[in-house]
Amino acid sequence: MIERLDDKIELCCDECSNSAGRVFGKDDFDIMIQHAKDEGWRIFRVGRDWKHNCADCRDDR
Ligand SMILES: [Zn+2]
Repeated sequence: MIERLDDKIELCCDECSNSAGRVFGKDDFDIMIQHAKDEGWRIFRVGRDWKHNCADCRDDR
């Protein structure tokens, strides 16, 4: 899930609620997603919602 804090955004795992470890400016959404992918996160779509699983929780490996 995406946590929105004033002018910042933070990515948190939908399974364990761990943060991706960095807080980004709200305009840096794409950078945040790229950072998470670099960290091994899996980001995928379920219906109309996006799911964000950290490297420990992703179930495809
Ligand atoms: Zn997790």
